[in-house]
Amino acid sequence: MSDLYQKIYHRAKELEGETARFLMDMVRVPSFSMTEGDVIQVIKKEMEAQGFDEVKVDGLGNVIGRIGNGPRIIAFDAHIDTVYPGDMSLWNFDPFTPRIEDGQVWGRGTVDQEGGMAAMVTAGKLVKEMGLNKGFTLYFTGTVMEEDCDGLCWKYILNEDKIRPEMVVITEPTNMNIYRGHRGRMEMQVRVKGLSCHGSAPERGDNAIYKISRVALEIEKLHDRLANDPFLGKGSICVSQVFFTGPSQCAVPDSAWINLDRRLTFGETKEIAVAEVKDAAARAGYPDAEVTVLEYAEKAYTGLVYPMEKYYPTWAIPETSPWVVSAVDAYEKTLGRKPFVDKWTFSTNGVSIAGMEGIPCIGLGPGNEVLAHFPNEHCPLEHLSGASAFYAGLVAQLNGKA
Ligand SMILES: [Zn+2]
Repeated sequence: MSDLYQKIYHRAKELEGETARFLMDMVRVPSFSMTEGDVIQVIKKEMEAQGFDEVKVDGLGNVIGRIGNGPRIIAFDAHIDTVYPGDMSLWNFDPFTPRIEDGQVWGRGTVDQEGGMAAMVTAGKLVKEMGLNKGFTLYFTGTVMEEDCDGLCWKYILNEDKIRPEMVVITEPTNMNIYRGHRGRMEMQVRVKGLSCHGSAPERGDNAIYKISRVALEIEKLHDRLANDPFLGKGSICVSQVFFTGPSQCAVPDSAWINLDRRLTFGETKEIAVAEVKDAAARAGYPDAEVTVLEYAEKAYTGLVYPMEKYYPTWAIPETSPWVVSAVDAYEKTLGRKPFVDKWTFSTNGVSIAGMEGIPCIGLGPGNEVLAHFPNEHCPLEHLSGASAFYAGLVAQLNGKA
């Protein structure tokens, strides 16, 4: 380790308590998707207190802090909405009364993923304090609604805020590994029509539930035929919900539909996925079944509705990409060991940044992803300081500091 990178690590370690304090400030303010307004103000104040050059909140409600004004742009992203605690009897403590114990910060959102937000802001402070950046405009984004519609917040940042980074570091939990992709996903619906009649003489009608059931069984078979990718794994599909309409319990139903959860591996696109489902419906005997990609159109806490198709494309960048190479190098220099380079099981804002727009993303975040959406969520303190050091070290590395 060179002197500079060692200093970055030690300073991040010194600030670990402050990073944890900010994380707990966020955890205390519940921030479920579409109700993030209060936590966004907590983050804005923190960025201002830490000397960020500019902090603003955009129309969708994302908070965006800037450091530097160099000609090149990179961004660090943390979504700051969390899921609900779920069954409270599974928790050993109140999810919104965070505490530090056994070297961990405990509370809802510590792993997914306000820990990343906290580490990012400390990294921003380090970058300023140690003069690590000259060449870049650095954005630190605390983004909304990710748990409900991954990528929507960044679709807004790219298209409406007109911020276009060369690369984005996603700070979702990676257990301190470096991640370079994940499977995409989409939500689809298949609808069939029937003909209602009195249930006492079903032969007069056309039972829509029988028809959608045959389609559902073809979807089960389709799953087995889906592609596999050595890095990202297998594409998948499942029937996740079933619905119908009909005049009464004593009647043949006149329409039925199923919702599908589709996970897309490398090379699988929206067009391919829709065609496969149409084909499955045809195999069931219903080529005229209606197949649609669902739309997301919920209201942000700011009141804005910014609709998006529920298609979240797959992305992966090669291990040989200069961004991955730089990240691995910065990791070794600041943390003194080789990182494991892998992928997420879940989906992130990378679906719009890398999947739709082709902007390279790399991932590193504090916490273990298996604890995301899990009771008794907790994040190691040493991950918080390690991530702060890595982010600051990456900025130093990209600025050519030895
Ligand atoms: Zn997350």
